[in-house]
Amino acid sequence: MKTQPELYRELPSVDDLLHSSAIAELAMQEGQTAVADACRAVLSRLRGEIGEGYLDSDKLKLALSDISNAVRQELTRVLGYSLRPVINATGVILHTNLGRAPIAQSAFEHIRETAGAYSNLEFDIEAGERGKRDVHVDRLFRKLLSEDSAELRSAGQPRAAVPTPTAHTGEGAHSTPPASSAAQGRLRTSTSTIVVNNNAAAVLLALNTLAEGGEVIVSRGELVEIGGSFRIPDVMSKSGAVLREVGTTNRTRVSDYEKAINDRTRLLLRVHRSNFEITGFTEQPSVAELVALARKRNVPLLEDLGSGALFDLAQVGIQNEPGVLDSLRGGVDVVTYSGDKLLGGPQAGLISGREDLVKKMRSNSLFRALRVDKLIYAALEATLLAYVKRDYNAVPTLRMMQTPKADITRRAEALAKSIQSQKLRAELLDGESLLGGGSAPSSTLPTTVLALTCYSLSANELAARLRVSDPPVIARVEEGKVLLDLRTVFPEQDKVLTQVLVNAAAV
Ligand SMILES: *Cc1c(COP(=O)(O)O)cnc(C)c1O
Repeated sequence: MKTQPELYRELPSVDDLLHSSAIAELAMQEGQTAVADACRAVLSRLRGEIGEGYLDSDKLKLALSDISNAVRQELTRVLGYSLRPVINATGVILHTNLGRAPIAQSAFEHIRETAGAYSNLEFDIEAGERGKRDVHVDRLFRKLLSEDSAELRSAGQPRAAVPTPTAHTGEGAHSTPPASSAAQGRLRTSTSTIVVNNNAAAVLLALNTLAEGGEVIVSRGELVEIGGSFRIPDVMSKSGAVLREVGTTNRTRVSDYEKAINDRTRLLLRVHRSNFEITGFTEQPSVAELVALARKRNVPLLEDLGSGALFDLAQVGIQNEPGVLDSLRGGVDVVTYSGDKLLGGPQAGLISGREDLVKKMRSNSLFRALRVDKLIYAALEATLLAYVKRDYNAVPTLRMMQTPKADITRRAEALAKSIQSQKLRAELLDGESLLGGGSAPSSTLPTTVLALTCYSLSANELAARLRVSDPPVIARVEEGKVLLDLRTVFPEQDKVLTQVLVNAAAV
C-alpha cells in the first residue's frame, strides 16, 4: 500500500507527457500550448483524486496507462464548441431555449457573402459617401408594409379587389367594428422601420424617445412579463417614462384611457398578451377605438406586438395573432415586434410606423447603443426578401407551420418502423404542436407524435440519454412516454434522429 506522497511521485510531469509519442503527435496537430494545458488539467484532476483518496496504486496505474486518451478528451472538451446544433423534437416551433427561429438558408448564405468580406453596410456606392445601415432593410419593409401588400395577409389567394378588413378577427377584444372605415384599409403613405437588438430594446427605445419625462397610459390587463425578465413596468421606468395604469386586470374600457389623459400624457401603449390569456368576464378596447382616441387627443399610439407576424396565420388556422399590417393599417402609429419570433429571422427588434416618430428614434443616442451588426442586417434582408418573393417555404418557421399533419404522420410512421425493436416500442398518437416564443398562447397545430417506451429505461432516463446524444435530441416527456413531434425536426434530420434513437435504446 503506497502512501499519498508516493502516489503523487508516480505522476509524470507535463514535459514527460509532451515527450510521449501519442501526446507529441497530438501536439503536432492541435498545438503545443493547448495540449500542454490539457495535460496540466488531466494531471491536476489525478492529483485531486489522489488527495481525496479515490486512487490507490492499481487504479492510478490504470489511469496512467490511458492518460493520452484522457488528454485527448480534455482537448475535445476545451476546443470543441459549446454552442451546438440540437434536434428540436418538442414540437414548439419558436422554442425560446433552443434559439427561437432557425434562420433561412439564404440568410446565412447572405451572412457568409457579406460578413466574411467588406460590404456597403454604411456606404452609398453611387454617391461614394457615407450611407445609413437602415436602408438595406427599410426598402423591403416599405414594400411589405405598403398598401398593396394586402395580399401578404392572404398570401396564395387571389388578391382582394377591396382592401381586406383590418379588424383583428377571432378575438373578442378585437372584434369591435372599426371606428371609421375611412381610416381603415388605408396605410399611411410613409411607414419606416428601424432595427435594434431585440423587441425589448425596441420598446425601450420607443418609450424613451416618445415619452421620457412624461406619462404613458397602459391597461392593467397588459402589464405583462415575457420570459427572460422583460416586464413592462420595469422597461417603462428604465425608459424614463412614468407608467399610468388604467382599468383592471380583466376589464379596461376606452373611457378609462380617456379619463387618464392629461397634459403630461405622451403616449398610449397597447401590449399584446403574448403568453397568457384572460378569459371570463373581460373587456379590452379594440385597436380601432384606441386609434380613434389617440387621434382625437393627439397622442401617439404605440403597440408592442411581441411576435408581429408578417404572414397571414389564418392560413394555417391560427386566428388570434395580430399581424403587423393589421395594426399599421388600423392606424396604430408605431408597432414594435421581434425578428426571431413569427417573422422567422434573426434576433432583432423592429420598430415600424410613422416616419416622423421613427426618425426621432433613429436620432436618439440610445439607438446607437442598441443598433445591430451587419450579420443581422444580412440575415434580415434575406428573410424579408423571401417574403417579398412570397417564397414562404424558404423561411423554416413558416415552412414548419405550413407542414400538413399528413406529412408528419408519414415521417413518424417511417421512423417508428425503423426504430421498433425488442427494447423500444414506438406508437403514433394525435398531438398538438405549439407556435411558442410568445405568440398566441393557445395557438396549436394538429400533429402526430411518436410516443416511445423503452423496456429497460424510464421515460425520464430515455429523454436524458437523448439529450446527451450527439447531436442532442430534445423531447417532451408525458405520462411515462417520451414524445417526439417531427414538425420541428427538419426532414433531413430524420436519418440521424433514427440513429440516435436506436443507439440510446441499445446501451
Ligand atoms: C417576446 C416579447 C417581447 C420581448 O421580445 P424580445 O425580442 O425577446 O426582446 C416584448 N413584448 C412582447 C409582447 C413579447 O411577446
